[in-house]
Amino acid sequence: MSSRAKTIFEKVIDREIPSQIVYETEELIALKDINPQAAVHVLVVPKKHFNRLAEVPMEEAELLGKLLIAAAHVAKLSGLEKSGFRVVINNGRDGGETVPHLHVHVLGGRPMGWPPG
Ligand code: 5GP
Repeated sequence: MSSRAKTIFEKVIDREIPSQIVYETEELIALKDINPQAAVHVLVVPKKHFNRLAEVPMEEAELLGKLLIAAAHVAKLSGLEKSGFRVVINNGRDGGETVPHLHVHVLGGRPMGWPPG
């Protein structure tokens, strides 16, 4: 049993707090963002906890690959296959990370600006 407090996403995974889950496998879950920044804004979250991308060891390359493939799958499920979408990982303070549990943002349904803010 870890001494660290559960992250909000672990509470979602454990069904302790409600969320709109759009896709789930043994290893990951995809849920609608509570504060969407586009018409489609889904978070793909590994069930195994990592604080952030920079802390994922090479041994987890397969899981990281699955997160990206799941992100594309979720985009397709959300009707973004033709229009396109953006995949984002915020890492650390300047990256805009607010939840210390690795997650991939899938955004779509509007044109995305570049460079990102
Ligand atoms: P970050 O800023 O760490 O890259 O992304 C965290 C995301 O989690 C934010 O977009 C935020 O809106 C979302 N979020 C925070 N708390 C909750 C929650 O309780 N439920 C859901 N579905 N999303 C959340």
